[in-house]
Amino acid sequence: MKSNRRQFIKISTLGTGGLALGLSSMNLNGINAAYAANKNEAVSDEDLTPYPTYCEVCFWKCAAWTYVDKKGEIRKIIGNKEDPHCNGRLCPRGTGGIGMYHDEDRLKNPLIRETKEDGTQYYRDASWEEALDLIADKMGKIKKEHGPECVALFSHGTGGKLMGHLLKAYGSSNISAPSFAQCRGPREVAFTATFGEDVQSPERTDIRDTKCLVLIGSHIGENMHNGQIQEMSDAIDNGATI
Ligand code: SF4
Repeated sequence: MKSNRRQFIKISTLGTGGLALGLSSMNLNGINAAYAANKNEAVSDEDLTPYPTYCEVCFWKCAAWTYVDKKGEIRKIIGNKEDPHCNGRLCPRGTGGIGMYHDEDRLKNPLIRETKEDGTQYYRDASWEEALDLIADKMGKIKKEHGPECVALFSHGTGGKLMGHLLKAYGSSNISAPSFAQCRGPREVAFTATFGEDVQSPERTDIRDTKCLVLIGSHIGENMHNGQIQEMSDAIDNGATI
């Protein structure tokens, strides 16, 4: 299939539209709050202080700069040019980080689920100390009554490793990552078998200079793997066949 840059952008925009729909069904308040924050008087970059950060929205983990004004308001988030994951450009999700930051549903402290007398449930704010005590108490009871190995972990993402350490300390080795078996695992094996070393981050694929890109079981463009999409866009510009 021969595609041009316009078609490619159209496909990507459909993905972005889906994202926008997803966001609107979640909560528009955060976005509105972000717009409200940006209704402040216009400022130039000289009035803003950049802080290095990285985007946690997906595993790609693009390095970024957060620009904060004198009132402490985040005014913009841009990619870090030094980072090969993003080459200075975040995807729409990363750029929309300001909306996420201002979202009134963003969790800033633990919530504990309670049940009213009529059976309806709700969440109430709790301190970290109370929440951790509650979890420790419940995990202790489970261990005492059923043994530690009755608890298993199916992990994904940054927090997975930390939870894995917790589970080992608890006494269970039932730790699995289904996403690894279906995603990174096969790539790890294939990279090692082909190049003699495992997948690095970013993956050392040469999409930009390819003349013919064959995608099998992959959906680059939909999945917004930032650096790879930029390379794919360049390859299309260079006349590559997809
Ligand atoms: S690809 Fe997008 S969502 Fe993922 S880390 Fe980069 S900017 Fe964030």
